[in-house]
Amino acid sequence: MSQEKAIINYFENMDRSFYLDENKDLASMDRPLPIGFGQTISQPTLVLKMTLALDLHPESRVLEIGTGSGFQTALLAAFSESVYSVERIEPLQEGAKKKLQEAGFTNVYFKQGNGSRGWRDHDPFDRIMVTAAVPEIPDELLGQLQSGGKMVIPIGTPFSQDLTLVEKDEEGEISQNFIESVVFVGLVEEED
Ligand code: SAH
Repeated sequence: MSQEKAIINYFENMDRSFYLDENKDLASMDRPLPIGFGQTISQPTLVLKMTLALDLHPESRVLEIGTGSGFQTALLAAFSESVYSVERIEPLQEGAKKKLQEAGFTNVYFKQGNGSRGWRDHDPFDRIMVTAAVPEIPDELLGQLQSGGKMVIPIGTPFSQDLTLVEKDEEGEISQNFIESVVFVGLVEEED
């Protein structure tokens, strides 16, 4: 089975309600849902699309910014070597950690903090998934992307963003390709 087919198969068998504390009854609908603290989980088909765009390999080391409910984290973790996931809101981070551990994942590492700074202790990363909107790609994240690496990130205003595939080639040159228009909650910029 191709990697893409394997990811789609796995995704189709995921139970989104497991990752939700509220609106569990709406989990099977293909729509974004609130996860508390003013944050939202994307519609499942977008989570799948973003994951496929990231082109994961079993040896990929992935940085995820915006753990949220942990739903996207689970899909990344099932198809990569390890996931380093950063979330600024502590109760969300704690909740996701508990759920992913309960689901049996042993290759996910959690950090509470400002994800626009990435995770310096573990860089470079082969893949970076950003699930909150940015006006432009944070330099730190570009710097922590491995040559030959890929990043999926929503770039734009608070109201509408271009979901973008960013690729860094072996010479360190950056290219960007538009995937689709999306609306994500903003990546919060703060001192830490
Ligand atoms: N991928 C998540 C949805 C994320 S919503 C899921 O599957 O549920 C965006 C998340 O990014 C929120 O949880 C929000 O708290 C987090 N976030 C926003 N700004 C951040 C920052 N600067 N650093 C880390 N996380 C951030």
